[in-house]
Amino acid sequence: MRKYDYLIVGAGLFGATFAHEMTKAGRTCIAVEKKHHVGGLCASARVEGIDVHLYGAHIFKTDDKETWEFINQFGEFNNFVNTPIAICDGEAYNLPFNMNTFAKVFGVVTPEEARKALSIPNIEAPSNLEDYAISKVGKKIYDMFIKGYTEKQWGKPCSQLPMTILSDIPIRYTYNNNYYNKRFQGVPMCGYDELIRKMFRGISVITGISYKGLKRSCDINAKKIIYTGPIDEFFDYKFGVLKYRSLKFEHKVFDCPNKNGVAVTNYVDKNIPYTRVIEHKHFCNHNSDSTVLTYEFPQNYEIGGEAYYPLNDEESDEMYAKYVEYAKRECPDIIFCGRLGSYRYDDMAECIERARKLAREELSK
Ligand SMILES: Cc1cc2nc3c(=O)[nH]c(=O)nc-3n(C[C@H](O)[C@H](O)[C@H](O)COP(=O)(O)OP(=O)(O)OC[C@H]3O[C@@H](n4cnc5c(N)ncnc54)[C@H](O)[C@@H]3O)c2cc1C
Repeated sequence: MRKYDYLIVGAGLFGATFAHEMTKAGRTCIAVEKKHHVGGLCASARVEGIDVHLYGAHIFKTDDKETWEFINQFGEFNNFVNTPIAICDGEAYNLPFNMNTFAKVFGVVTPEEARKALSIPNIEAPSNLEDYAISKVGKKIYDMFIKGYTEKQWGKPCSQLPMTILSDIPIRYTYNNNYYNKRFQGVPMCGYDELIRKMFRGISVITGISYKGLKRSCDINAKKIIYTGPIDEFFDYKFGVLKYRSLKFEHKVFDCPNKNGVAVTNYVDKNIPYTRVIEHKHFCNHNSDSTVLTYEFPQNYEIGGEAYYPLNDEESDEMYAKYVEYAKRECPDIIFCGRLGSYRYDDMAECIERARKLAREELSK
């Protein structure tokens, strides 16, 4: 039996980054992935010649040159800039909230007029998402674009949601529809699928079997385990089930070259059951007679389902702390990390930065 330095559980972006860095430094790694493909939530597949993001739109963005250069070594990125549209009551508005949005909502022209029209109240120490959002964008914009969307996204009234799940609401007093406004942004021209496979080059990845299944069927000998699956599942939900919101994706092919005219459309009205529609061909300007759209339907999360967005309220964060404490005591050779092991939402750049930091720490031991 071959002995490895690291067994990596989960072949998502975190596992791929860590495996690549450690292998480059001469450590031996093997990865196990319960899905039949690598890439985790970043995975993509070619449909009608178009690269389809299987688990929601994945747009890479960072201000960090090193992270950008790191990811670009596995495949060149284009210069895609996210300029989403919000559909509210049948009308299209620009996002993020900027002068284009305010001009259409209030009929204003200058930033000064926009500030007046928004009339953002001063709410001292907002304690829930509703108050927080109103304190950032004012009541009118909140009612039109945030309330309905957020309540269907999370399945709860905004007044009962923690403000922490709405990390930032971009608001700009310029005519600028560039949502992220980051120095480096884009999507890989080869597709995420090929990109992540390149990250795993030279590393064995066993797909289609879970960690526990693998343990039952063969004995892989590794000095340490890098576990990027859900920490609560690993411990059989000993302290309870961590709260998540789930999603269902419906992919549809249309026999026309351009359906929505934009990659990301947000449907903010509560009576429309999906939150976003993604038209994938606009990420890479694919030239084809047909187009592929993905509809995102928010869902309750249940054990065994796909955990998408962590609901980091007080109760869940306390439960997570118990798992961490227990893991440190009972399994010192297992490192829980990645978005599911550390129960946090990280974008791809943050995920890479954390995985590379962990690799540096391991190499310095
Ligand atoms: C809907 C959505 C949209 C997003 N859009 C963006 C975006 O536009 N831009 C951006 O920068 N970031 C985006 N993100 C964040 C991005 O998806 C994450 O940063 C990234 O996927 C984290 O990678 P990971 O490896 O930690 O987790 P994952 O991608 O979840 O990978 C974990 C892997 O572990 C596997 N696994 C779990 N348990 C086991 C087990 N027991 N045995 C074997 N395998 C197991 C899973 O199948 C999975 O493949 C988005 C996230 C979501 C939820």
